Amino acid sequence: MSNYQHLCNYLKKYKQLFVSEIYVSKKNFDDKNLTKSKEHKLSLNKYQSLISNCQECQLSKTRKNFVFGFGDPNADLMLVGEAPGYDEDNQGVPFVGKAGKLLDKILLAIDLNRFEKVYIANILKCRPPKNRDPLLSEIETCIPYLKKQIEIIRPKLIVALGKVAGKSLTGEDISLKEMRDTTYSYNGIPLKVTYHPAALLRNQSLKIFAWDDFKWIKSQMVN
Ligand code: URA
Repeated sequence: MSNYQHLCNYLKKYKQLFVSEIYVSKKNFDDKNLTKSKEHKLSLNKYQSLISNCQECQLSKTRKNFVFGFGDPNADLMLVGEAPGYDEDNQGVPFVGKAGKLLDKILLAIDLNRFEKVYIANILKCRPPKNRDPLLSEIETCIPYLKKQIEIIRPKLIVALGKVAGKSLTGEDISLKEMRDTTYSYNGIPLKVTYHPAALLRNQSLKIFAWDDFKWIKSQMVN
C-alpha cells in the first residue's frame, strides 16, 4: 500500500477529528519523487524486521504487538513518547489512543501530520502491563532501538513528549518545566522537551504552554 493510500485510510478512520479541514496533495506521496525517502524506508523497514521479535525483556511476554514507530522515514521532526498503551499495543502503531488523537490535532494546528515529514516513536517498544511506568532496566534495554531509528532517520528536530522521554534522551533528572526551558542537543540534533499529550488531557491548564512549544516547533520546521 502506498503512503497516500495509508493516509486516506487513516483519515477515513479519524474523520470525526479532522472533519473536512485537511488537504494533503497527492504529489507529496508519489513514491517516484521520494528517492531519498525510499532509501530511508528500506533501511527502516529492514531494521524493523530485524528487531520486531525482540525478547530482551519481560514486556515481550505480555505485549500483543511490538510498536516500532510510524511516519515519514524522511522526517524532519521526530516525536518521542514514553511507551505504547492499550490501543497502541492492540494496533501496533504509536499514539492512536486518546492522547494520540490530541497529538494529531496539535500537529494539524501547526500544518503537520504524521505521514509527512514527521515520525513518531516511543522510548519503549512494548506496553508495560496496566500502563505502569517503564522500569529503568526496560528503558536501558530498549533505548538502543530508538537511537538506531534516530540514526537512520536523521531528523532536524527531536521532540520528547513528557518526563520519561525527556529524561531518557537528555540524561537530566529535573522537572519537565525546567526541561522545557532548554534546547538540548542529541548528537548534534536539536532536542526539545514538552508536555505529553496525556498530561494535557489530564490538566487543561498546561495546554497554553504546550501550544507555545509547538509554535516554536513549527518555526523550526520552515528553516
Ligand atoms: N503514550 C505514549 O507515550 N506513547 C504512545 O504511543 C501512546 C501513548
